Amino acid sequence: MTFHIITIFPKLFDSYLADSIIQRAIASKKITVKFYNPRDFTKNKHKKVDDIPYGGGPGMIMTVQPVIDAWKKARGRSEKKKFKTIILSPGGTEFTTTYAKRSAKKYTDIIFICGRYEGIDARIKKILGKQAEEVSIGNYVVTGGELAAMVMIDSMSRQIQGVLGNALSLEEERISSREMYTRPPVVEFQGKHYRVPTVLQSGNHKLIDEWRENH
Ligand code: SAM
Repeated sequence: MTFHIITIFPKLFDSYLADSIIQRAIASKKITVKFYNPRDFTKNKHKKVDDIPYGGGPGMIMTVQPVIDAWKKARGRSEKKKFKTIILSPGGTEFTTTYAKRSAKKYTDIIFICGRYEGIDARIKKILGKQAEEVSIGNYVVTGGELAAMVMIDSMSRQIQGVLGNALSLEEERISSREMYTRPPVVEFQGKHYRVPTVLQSGNHKLIDEWRENH
């Protein structure tokens, strides 16, 4: 899977992509991440990518031309690839594990358009039409699409075969619970003792699964 990220802040991704599971997925070429900075596609002297909103109001809006030219570069010419464009938007379709799973199966390339400021000019969505979908990580607003793209890249990558060392690490492939414990069996804090439920130490997997379904 190749993730193409259209962002004016590519450095925000550096530390997240350089560690742990995602770093290993990149090193083993299970995933590839490419960046396209709209500033590199501007046609004005000051590399300006935003402008004031029509109708007034606070903040700035990302302009159409640099984003669409960055998108064209990311899209490329290959007809063989199965592309999807995701416009990060707080009002979009809710991102879920099912969405991640389906996307990882269906597409070879996903383009993320990360909004900043007050968001992107609505004509970007209109120009891309059915090729693009607005997707949200939840019912709250963050400062830019970059965090949302990282959440989706992480979640989709987990669904790609070989990215997680053990397929059973995928929560939805097994019975998992919100409550998890590791050693030691008893923790003492301010005079109180916090114990691991005895069933988890019983070795009886039928009982353990039953317990996990309820906790
Ligand atoms: N008023 C704008 C709106 O409702 O779209 C909020 C803009 S927000 C400060 C800037 C950018 O962050 C958005 O264009 C979007 O790309 C991204 N963003 C913010 N919250 C998000 C969310 N919950 N899910 C996905 N992207 C989000």
